[in-house]
Amino acid sequence: MLDLVLPLACGGCGAPSTRWCEACADAFSAEPVVVTTRVDPGVPVLSLGRYAGPRRQAIVTMKDRGRHDLTLPLGAALARGVGQLLRWHLVEPPVTLVPAPTRWTSARGRGGDPVTAVAAVAAQIPGVHAVPLLRMKMGARDSVGLSISARQRNVTGRIAVRRGPRPDTELVLVDDVLTTGATAAESVRVLRTAGFRVAAVLTLTYS
Ligand SMILES: [Zn+2]
Repeated sequence: MLDLVLPLACGGCGAPSTRWCEACADAFSAEPVVVTTRVDPGVPVLSLGRYAGPRRQAIVTMKDRGRHDLTLPLGAALARGVGQLLRWHLVEPPVTLVPAPTRWTSARGRGGDPVTAVAAVAAQIPGVHAVPLLRMKMGARDSVGLSISARQRNVTGRIAVRRGPRPDTELVLVDDVLTTGATAAESVRVLRTAGFRVAAVLTLTYS
C-alpha cells in the first residue's frame, strides 16, 4: 500500500519495494583497495570500489535526486572501510574523518553536503569522529569535464581550514568519488600546512 503512495526503489539498482537491497549492500568492498591517482596526495589512497554499477547509481541518487536516506547505507559502507584501516593499523584510534570540501553552492542546492552526512554516519563506530574541517572558497568551479591540469588549477589555493575546534587525532580524508586526486591532494596539503596529521584518503568509489 505504501508503495503506491511513495515511489520506493533501491537507490543502487532500482529494485522495487526497498530503499537499499541486500545485493547492493554487498556492492561496496569490505576491504578497501589501494588506488593510484594521477595527482599524488602523498598519503595512502584507498577506495571501496569503482565508480560504476550500483555504487555509482547510489551516489548519483543520493546527491542529485535528494535521496538523503542513502547516507545511512553509504555511511555504513564507509564505516566498514574505516574499520578495516584500523585493523590494518594504517591509522590508530581515535581517528577523525574529514569530508572533502564541496563547493558551497552545490552543498546548499542539495540541502546539505551529502559527504559530510555520510561521514557523520560512519563516525558512529567507536573511536571514530567526523569533523568538517575543510571548506571550498568561492570561485572554485564544478570539476566535471575539466582536464587534470585544469582540475588542479581549480582547487589550488581554494581549499581552507574552517575556524573552530581542532581535533587532536590522526585524520582520514573521505569523499564519495575519487577522480584525478587533485581535490584530495590539495586537501591533504592544506591540512598538513595547518599542522594536522593526515594518515590516509578513503573514498566510497574511484573512477
Ligand atoms: Zn539494489
